[in-house]
Order: sequence, then structure tokens, then C-alpha cells
Amino acid sequence: METAATWQEMARKAWVWKREGRRVGLVPTMGFLHRGHVSLIEALRPEVDRLAVSIYVNPLQFGPNEDLARYPRDPSGDAEKCANAGADVLFMPTDLYPDGFQTSVSVHGLSEGLCGAFRPGHFDGVATVVARLFGLTRCDVAIFGEKDWQQLQVIRRMGADLALPVDVRGAPLVRDVDGLALSSRNTYLSAAERARALSLSRALFAMQQSADVDAARRLALGRSLLDVDRLDYLEIVDENLRPVDVVGADSRALVAAYVGKTRLIDNVAL
Ligand code: AMP
Repeated sequence: METAATWQEMARKAWVWKREGRRVGLVPTMGFLHRGHVSLIEALRPEVDRLAVSIYVNPLQFGPNEDLARYPRDPSGDAEKCANAGADVLFMPTDLYPDGFQTSVSVHGLSEGLCGAFRPGHFDGVATVVARLFGLTRCDVAIFGEKDWQQLQVIRRMGADLALPVDVRGAPLVRDVDGLALSSRNTYLSAAERARALSLSRALFAMQQSADVDAARRLALGRSLLDVDRLDYLEIVDENLRPVDVVGADSRALVAAYVGKTRLIDNVAL
């Protein structure tokens, strides 16, 4: 596996790949990789000639009081996981933006509810970095986890609206054996907090198993099972991320909550 430590180096490699007619895949991440990230690399590997994994903790998508400065890092462990999963290039720049950078990509509507309501500017930061990563790597296909369901919808919309020549793929959410959605941020949790964090997936699974078509009653069931310190939201939405009153085949339940100081998200199809 090669590494690219600057965006210029990544851009040069991508230029050569495209000149050679290679099909390029991209797995964008913020590092501290776990089995969820590895599942994305493994899913894309057989489909492409050249596979890049990016690791960049993107300041644009963090709010002023969020965990940018203490976001967990493990460069050597990450490199080993990427190499084992078959990545061709690990793109791990310290800076991703050129001098004088002044562009922002906003996906209105889809970015406004759910996490967007609690993390102002977050999805602008995500859309902007992903658009730049698409440009730098010249990827034909990129893959994103359903763990970040709203993010996946925002990126799909961006790709379609801007006619970006990238196939945006989604991949299933990977959980720990006890049901906790894998997340780099789980490392912040104490043992006691981790036990309470399980209430997110328990609440979602109970909502999934209920046959009640009334969204308000399913939400009440979910809320009754949550053991969290602050609930940002528990919602049932349709494919356009709009809240529904009646649960249908395309409905999804999403939750975001703090356990201690750690903000966790999770979601299930209903
Ligand atoms: P992150 O490093 O948290 O920005 O995540 C990078 C990519 O990995 C995103 O597309 C996430 O949705 C995906 N991802 C993170 N956790 C999981 C998980 N538990 N299962 C599947 N994909 C995940």
C-alpha cells in the first residue's frame, strides 16, 4: 500500500490512474478505524482497479464546542487495517484545502432537520470536504455507511444535483455483538456509559419490532427505553427525512443522544 501525505500527491496519483483508464474507488473516513470502516473498504475492493482510503479529521464539519481537538487518532493501526483490507493508497493529509480556499457546498432541505438542527453547518462541512475528495481522487465510486444515514442522503443529493460523475454507494451499519453501533467515538465511553449507550440500539430495535403503524406510539415506546443524559432527537422519517405520522415501508427511526459527554447516533429501517 502506498501513502499520500498531501493533497497534491493524491491528485498526482489520481491523474496517473485516470490516464491509465483505471476505475477508482474512494472510502472517506476520519480515521480511528473499526470494523465498520473496514467493511466499506472490503465492499468496494472487488469493484475497482485502484482503491483510496482517506483519513482526514475535517475541521469544517465540527462546531466550536465539539470534539475536533480530541478526536481519537491511530495512524499506524489505521494503516495496518487499510493494508490488510486491500487499499492501494492511504491518503492521510494534514491539510486538505488550498490557500485562499473559499467555497462551501450546501445541500438545503436534507441538511436542515435531525443532526443538522443540532449541529449548525455540519453538513455544509461534510458536503464540501466530500466534493473536494471526489475532485482530488477522481473517484468513479465512493462508499458511505448507513450508520450516518442523513449524511448518506445529503451526499447522494449533492452528487445528483451537481451531476458529479461518482456513483455514491451506501453500506450496512456494522454493530458490536451487543448491538452498539460501531463508532470511533465509542472510545470516549466509560464501561458504565457504554452499558447505557446500549439503550439506543435497544430502543430502536423495540421500535422496529413493534407492529404499530402510529408513529407517535412507536416514538413513545422508544423514548421509554432510552437511558441517556440528553436526547437531541428520536424521530421516524420517510426517505426524504421528513417526519411521518404513519409508519410505512420506507420509514426509518433515527436517534441522536448524549451519554455522558459523548454524542452517539444510530438508526434502523422500520
Ligand atoms: P467516520 O470516520 O466516522 O467519518 O466514518 C467514515 C465512514 O464510515 C462513513 O461513511 C461512515 O458512515 C462509515 N461508518 C462509520 N461507522 C460505521 C458503522 N458502524 N457501520 C458502517 N459504516 C460506518
